[in-house]
Amino acid sequence: MQERLHMSHHPGTDPPPFEASVIDVTDDSLILSQSYCYPRGGGQPGDTGLFIHDGIGRGFSETLGGEFIRHPVDEITDFSVGDEVRCVIDGERRNRHAKMHTAQHIISALADDLWGAETVGNQISTEYTRIDFLFPNRDEYDSETLADAVNSVIGSGTLVSVHEWPRDAVREHEHMRHTNFMERIPSFITELRVVEIEGIDLCPCAGTHVGSTNDIEPIVITNVKSKGAGKFRITYQFENETL
Ligand SMILES: [Zn+2]
Repeated sequence: MQERLHMSHHPGTDPPPFEASVIDVTDDSLILSQSYCYPRGGGQPGDTGLFIHDGIGRGFSETLGGEFIRHPVDEITDFSVGDEVRCVIDGERRNRHAKMHTAQHIISALADDLWGAETVGNQISTEYTRIDFLFPNRDEYDSETLADAVNSVIGSGTLVSVHEWPRDAVREHEHMRHTNFMERIPSFITELRVVEIEGIDLCPCAGTHVGSTNDIEPIVITNVKSKGAGKFRITYQFENETL
């Protein structure tokens, strides 16, 4: 059994260094007894970082999901089951993903409120994020309206919190967004992690988030591209990083 510590770590910024035992070694990855690493999923990249083992540091590449969190390392033969390792996550990269991802919640929520736009895909990186929207009428969309609405939430110091709620309460809550995918979650999972941006968004999510919208910089929408009937792909960055 592996403890997924990122699930109870909120705000999901500045993940602490941690010690863990190697419980399995695959062809290219370590499985640890516990991990604060976020495994790639939901458009958010996995974490990267460093293992310290026998006094030597070895980098690990983007952590991946599945039944266990997998930590890919180049020198896999240097590790054995039972080894104790210290793990240091690249905190700067994680913090940027947490900011980008929390901004994505706000943008998706407001595009839904403003135009009934459904988020049908997203891809986050440290520099920019893309979200694909399906609109009932995409001619109504306006980037300036969306960016202004998003930035007024970002500057408002709104609390971002995480809850564990029974599955039925999540499905039946009248303000819950993005419940379509719940059919794919195995029925033995009876509690779901719900992320709330007070008065703005409420949805099941396993990603990493900041604790307050004040922790995000204002965004600017840098590109809008057609992705087929009724769809736009919008790209945003943090305003202070655009040239
Ligand atoms: Zn999230």
